[in-house]
Amino acid sequence: EAAPYVPALVVGTGYGAAVTALRLGAAGIRTTMIEMGQLWNTAGKDGKVFCSTLNPDRRSMWFQRRTKAPLDTFLWLDVVNRDLGTPYAGILDRIDFPNMGVYVGRGVGGGSLVNGGMAPTPQRAYFEKMLPQVDADAMYKRYFPLARRMLGVNAIDPRYLEQTPVYKYARVSRRHAHQAGFRTSVVPNVYDFNYLRREEKKQVPRSALAGEVIYGNNHGKQSLDKTYLADALGTGNVTIRTLTRVTTIRKQGKGYLVGLEQIDAWGKVIRRSEISCSSLFLGAGSIGTTELLLRARETGTLPDLPAAIGNGWGTNGNVMTARANHLWDPTGTLQSTIPTLAIDNWNDPKHPSFAEIAPLPVGLETWASLYLAITVNPERGRFTYNHHTDRADLHWSAGQSTPSLRSAQFLFDKINKAIGTTYRRDLFTGNRAFAADFCYHPLGGALLGKATDNYGRVRNHPGLYVTDSSLIPGSLGVNPFVTITALAERNIAHVLASDLKRR
Ligand code: FAD
Repeated sequence: EAAPYVPALVVGTGYGAAVTALRLGAAGIRTTMIEMGQLWNTAGKDGKVFCSTLNPDRRSMWFQRRTKAPLDTFLWLDVVNRDLGTPYAGILDRIDFPNMGVYVGRGVGGGSLVNGGMAPTPQRAYFEKMLPQVDADAMYKRYFPLARRMLGVNAIDPRYLEQTPVYKYARVSRRHAHQAGFRTSVVPNVYDFNYLRREEKKQVPRSALAGEVIYGNNHGKQSLDKTYLADALGTGNVTIRTLTRVTTIRKQGKGYLVGLEQIDAWGKVIRRSEISCSSLFLGAGSIGTTELLLRARETGTLPDLPAAIGNGWGTNGNVMTARANHLWDPTGTLQSTIPTLAIDNWNDPKHPSFAEIAPLPVGLETWASLYLAITVNPERGRFTYNHHTDRADLHWSAGQSTPSLRSAQFLFDKINKAIGTTYRRDLFTGNRAFAADFCYHPLGGALLGKATDNYGRVRNHPGLYVTDSSLIPGSLGVNPFVTITALAERNIAHVLASDLKRR
């Protein structure tokens, strides 16, 4: 029996995938999206679709028995993580490699469901350095503005930022940074700041003010299911299959034959099948896309895939750290989970960093200032295919995080010195002040211009494309989703015009 056919198949439903599906659908091309996670649209027993960070349940994590939160302890106590019962297809995954844990979103909308919504555009000079082959004029004049508009990026009203108690934590950290001689900047977001103001006044149900973020936001956040994916479905040409994982890719005629595995929400395989397509777009994220390509090359289903696949992976220099404030400098008991300020030390020639001022929304005064710093780290990891586990292994040594740690330490040592404060060592196991052993911003694995041509076409494989964060060489200097979106817009515009015009 022949496998069903669809002209275009898109793997994943994150940023790269969502952009691609919308543009294909709008061009009249029938497109199927395959997503391994759930469609998050059904309320649980508590009447909510998503659970909060303070009270996580089975919805929180992708097939875990216990949550794996980025901060693992509080006052050195194991009070952060919770047992979850039977493993379930929850929303946040943490993929653990020997020296690196990578957080990714699972569900229709990918990372947009779990992220902090921060939507900065990279500094042009650094973008040009990382992606020199991309026409920066086209990006900064056309595709970045398009991405920001489509994603619903908005900025906080400066007067509100200055007076609201829910950003006291941000203002405290900003004052400390300024006292140490650093600059700060306001970072735009896709969380609707008008909604946030109404939350504060208790006019609408609370989300950013109810500790919701990494396990999903019930309100306020314009995640991809409300933007690109809604528009894609609206074309009438796009369908999404959920709880279905793409396992294999092989060549069939002029197109591709793709293996699928459908599970129920408890992980039981309910169906294995195949689907064929003329054009195959990989948007499974840095790890997902790289793994699919490596598996195809190493198991011989696409043996001629480029040797460059698996190379050039980085953490965007992610480091998390926290400072202990003086007793007279409280950060507030009601904190918005949506960050809005960053310390911008990016132009420092020796220790560049861009540190998001993060909340610690635990509902009581912690006197802690938390940060997720993005630093320059020239180290790159590499993936290889593991025949025993059928998974991609990441080769990243603990020492490769050292450049990130150095830049972050430079910044926060200076702030601590100026303010007379110290680090919080109770938040990460092992009394550590810094954590560079996990990341939120995995980038690379199938680099633009190396594994693919300059528009994401996989070399020597007509009809096979990479659309997502795996194209970006390990570092961007800011939170990445606006760039992933803009790059996907640029690539699909070119591919539609030159490869798919007469279908
Ligand atoms: P993803 O968004 O990761 O989407 C990939 C999708 O493919 C997923 O839905 C996945 O389930 C699916 N998939 C994977 N493999 C398969 C397969 N084999 N078959 C079927 N489906 C598959 N970035 C910012 O810019 N600002 C922020 O504030 C920010 N905060 C973050 C906070 C957290 C906690 C995390 C985890 C990330 C954050 N990020 C942030 C990063 C951002 O979310 C990612 O960079 C972005 O989502 C990557 O987009 P993508 O298109 O590459 O893939």
